[in-house]
Amino acid sequence: MRKPRIALIATGGTIAGTAGSATDTSGYTAGQLGADALLAAVPQLEHLARLSAEQLFNIDSKDMTPQHWLVLSRRVQALVDDPAVDGVVITHGTDTLEETAYFLHITVATTKPVVMTAAMRPATALSADGPLNLYQAVELACRPAAGRAGVLAVLGDRILPAASLSKRHPAAVDAFTSAGALTTLASDAVLQALAPARYSRIALPPELQTLPPVELLTVAAGSSPALASAVARALARASLVSGAAGLVLALPGNASLPESWLPALDELPNSVPLVLASRCGGGISRHRADAPGNWLDAGALDPLKARVRLIAGLGAGLRGARLRRWFERG
Ligand code: ASP
Repeated sequence: MRKPRIALIATGGTIAGTAGSATDTSGYTAGQLGADALLAAVPQLEHLARLSAEQLFNIDSKDMTPQHWLVLSRRVQALVDDPAVDGVVITHGTDTLEETAYFLHITVATTKPVVMTAAMRPATALSADGPLNLYQAVELACRPAAGRAGVLAVLGDRILPAASLSKRHPAAVDAFTSAGALTTLASDAVLQALAPARYSRIALPPELQTLPPVELLTVAAGSSPALASAVARALARASLVSGAAGLVLALPGNASLPESWLPALDELPNSVPLVLASRCGGGISRHRADAPGNWLDAGALDPLKARVRLIAGLGAGLRGARLRRWFERG
């Protein structure tokens, strides 16, 4: 039987990290090994697939930016559009994996598997988790049934949908959660059931050079509204320069805004959208019928994903009612 052709894109992270000793799992440098070294550590991959590998970046994912997302999304799209590629695997740092995964999830149009993987322990560690994670990610990317659910991550023997992926622990190997997570042993029928009923993607214009600036502020009890004023003024200026900008607030409870913040938010021009998200992690009710026209609800999205969705929507040129619909479909 013909082996599936899988394209590996390496972007860095702890999976490519090295430390001075095998017992050092924190004082290491991420993004040291190249794509070829990652593959060489897992010779069993040869039995699964015909692999090609490329190094797109080699960075710690704390340094990932929307500019990297744009480059990566376009590269993944080019690969999945190639009839000679059956699936794509991306290695990445764990710190911002959920943001990149969600950006790819909503911007790459394909029914081929796109699988991200990472590691919590560097490649040099005793019981490094990267090699098995990479093996299982490639194994998943070889299964056409994995292509209907959008972008998936594979870590710690689990398949985690990008739509609700979150890193919830800074050090444990089992650091990630996602609603609908499956074991890597899931059958094709179970995998297919992951395909969401509603799933909207957005096309980024080919001429788009940079994604618009969108800031995320977390509002804690007693947070100073001066912070909102400063950010509102900076975004008003940025919007004039880049043609678009936006703000996401991670708010207490059901995205409840402290009274003291209301005047500061009035400084945001109508052209700069404000997305209200919940610090609880998403799932707010839609409640502000009387809200200014540029205010949007994050709905089921957590604040990080609401920001990614706003960046993608603004980058695709959505404004006003079209941007609101993009959030309502989220
Ligand atoms: N700081 C690393 C990164 O995100 C952490 C990791 O990959 O686990 O690149």
